[in-house]
Amino acid sequence: MKDRITMGLDAGSTTSKCVILKNGETVLGSAVIGAGTGTSGPGRAVSQALSAAGIKEEQIGLRAATGYGRNRYAEEGPVLSELSAHAIAAAALFPGVRTLIDIGGQDAKVISLNERGQLVNFLMNDKCAAGTGRFLEVMARVLELSVEELAQRDAASLSPVSISSTCTVFAESEVISKLSENVQINDLVAGIHGSVASKTAGLVRRLGLKEPVGMSGGVAQNEGVVRALSRELGTEITVIPEPQLSGAYGAALYAYRKLIQNEKP
Ligand code: ADP
Repeated sequence: MKDRITMGLDAGSTTSKCVILKNGETVLGSAVIGAGTGTSGPGRAVSQALSAAGIKEEQIGLRAATGYGRNRYAEEGPVLSELSAHAIAAAALFPGVRTLIDIGGQDAKVISLNERGQLVNFLMNDKCAAGTGRFLEVMARVLELSVEELAQRDAASLSPVSISSTCTVFAESEVISKLSENVQINDLVAGIHGSVASKTAGLVRRLGLKEPVGMSGGVAQNEGVVRALSRELGTEITVIPEPQLSGAYGAALYAYRKLIQNEKP
């Protein structure tokens, strides 16, 4: 039987991700590029994933696009919302998941799934940077850290401080003022994670917490946020494998299912 190769492109707000999938099961190649929609990011993500997979563009049976900039790729194949893409990926990679938290660069989403893995409801914060990856990027910059270093700093915190400002701009001033008072950087990082966790937990509670809970999106790579959120919600949180690739993976799987459907007489 001929292999069916599909591609999923997630043209995100801050990063572009691409996954190439064989027969809806095996990831042949993937790429994450730190430049989002409207830049060279999506194109670079596609070429990097193709070369990682060792395949040529013509071998792709169908490609699907998701993410903030998905509509730019509507002529190349089907497009699906980020909510659908993340729900498809979560249901495949964490069967039985009932609540999915997805925190990306510019928004945070909470998705409720039924026992068949279908999306039934969602809530989204896309109006305010607080509680998103952008908030963490801003805070990391103030502390002269990279986002990759935040989790380790959090783990070393002995007495986390509380960040009371809910707005990113005010929280930034608050962090600067605490820095001038000689508060330990590790404790500030733990406080920053606590702030993201409490904002996200508010969304989860409004939607209704159903267990088990999974997490996807770039921020799920930050164990400090995952731990703080798990504490705040009083439940275990399972991070979806390769969480930043989750949307692209969901799109590649969607393309595979479409391909199979189209083949049916
Ligand atoms: P989008 O799809 O909106 O572009 P992503 O889901 O790719 O967003 O998430 C981007 C966010 O993920 C960044 O703002 C950053 O906070 C966080 N992030 C990315 N890589 C890492 C990492 N290695 N460790 C911790 N956080 C990360």
